[in-house]
Amino acid sequence: VTVFSRRGACPALSAPMQTGDGLLVRLNPITQGLPPKTLIGLCKSAMRHGNGIIEVTARGSVQIRGLTETSAQLLAEGVDALGISVRTGVPVETGPLAGLDPTEIADPTPLAESIREAIATRRLSERLGPKVSVVVDGGGMFCMDSVQADIRLIADDGAWQLSIAGDAATATFLRNVSTEDATAAAISILESIAKLGREARARDSIPLTNGPSSPCRDLLPASGEKEIARDVPASSFSPFAGRRSRQGDEGQIAKLGIVDLGKAHALSIALSYGSVTAETLTTLCEAAAAHGASEIRPALQRRLIILGLSAQACAALQAESAVLGFITNASDPRRSIAACPGAPACASGQIETREIAERIAEQSGDVLDPSVTLHISGCAKGCAHPAASALTIVGGENGAGFVVCGTAKGLPASYTPRYEPANGFGRVAKLIRMQRSAGETTAATLAKIGAARLAAAFRQG
Ligand code: SF4
Repeated sequence: VTVFSRRGACPALSAPMQTGDGLLVRLNPITQGLPPKTLIGLCKSAMRHGNGIIEVTARGSVQIRGLTETSAQLLAEGVDALGISVRTGVPVETGPLAGLDPTEIADPTPLAESIREAIATRRLSERLGPKVSVVVDGGGMFCMDSVQADIRLIADDGAWQLSIAGDAATATFLRNVSTEDATAAAISILESIAKLGREARARDSIPLTNGPSSPCRDLLPASGEKEIARDVPASSFSPFAGRRSRQGDEGQIAKLGIVDLGKAHALSIALSYGSVTAETLTTLCEAAAAHGASEIRPALQRRLIILGLSAQACAALQAESAVLGFITNASDPRRSIAACPGAPACASGQIETREIAERIAEQSGDVLDPSVTLHISGCAKGCAHPAASALTIVGGENGAGFVVCGTAKGLPASYTPRYEPANGFGRVAKLIRMQRSAGETTAATLAKIGAARLAAAFRQG
């Protein structure tokens, strides 16, 4: 019996993924955060067994890179020895400050726990594919609008808005359910997905929702019942903005810095492009411990939230984090860039994504505001940002492609040689500066310029 099979179901820890720099494992600790000392232990394990690169994903999972078959097993033993229990089965996710955020509409943790228990009782994880997930969002400062899920329950004034397949902007709304009925409703949909096979996702069950035999039929709005209006009207959605959100892109991104939790404070910081060396993370953990931190939570959008601090300690640690290279304020242009490890870290990488990202942040960062995302992808797989972005630079056989308002899989509108995408973006930035009116967001300026002129600017040289 291997360490992995003994540990059971965690698909990532039991089945590390092959990447360009070796095997990668993903772990989601059962407790939302880890004490600084435990995280230091994990960093040591990552240095000892992997290549010392640690990532926090857009969904808030921790990833450790550069492992071999043997060292991945040793890492799993290390995780066990540190007392880190890893969540297994269908992910049922809540926000990073669930139950602590005083602005939350409802605490989502009891409902999430009830759904987890029902999934376990019915052994649904064995019948569902590994990507099927549930989001239970209590609202508040760290809402989960950007997270894709098969089932989404959003707190709504004494009830839960139930929707399927997508993020908050794209999911199909079914109906409001009471807290008492929410677990049964979620389980009924998961059962309907399971009936379609291990490859099925909630989106596959959408056509069934209209059929007389659909398990979801009863959950649809009754005839004449008005579907809940989205909080953000469609007219405010810019195709360049990437997504709509209850808080807006700006709201999502702005949650960096000191967070007032009422009786306590927390510090929210982000990893640039989602990765950090284990040495740097160790230094951060030591500083956090010295300031009295009790817990560090990996969080949505490649963030870390440090709990147990006074407001004064938050301010001091914020300054120390900035020196260590963490992103500590919302206006940092690196927040608007998503970049995968790319070449040379990933064998599929055709361009040096991180180096390009650094140059763009340095030279053209002034045109990147929270209204847009620039995605820099080593290849068409688009690991760092599967959803559409305002602008995408993607490595391919023809050089560095430039996709306007699409994904890394989209057909590039123009190309530059692989060595010069940062210069190509520099020309795009120059055009944006020339066309931008006072007070205008970058999304609005891009819409004004249009895809053809943007593509032409990227291509010139
Ligand atoms: S997008 Fe391509 S290059 Fe980037 S990490 Fe994924 S597979 Fe590697």
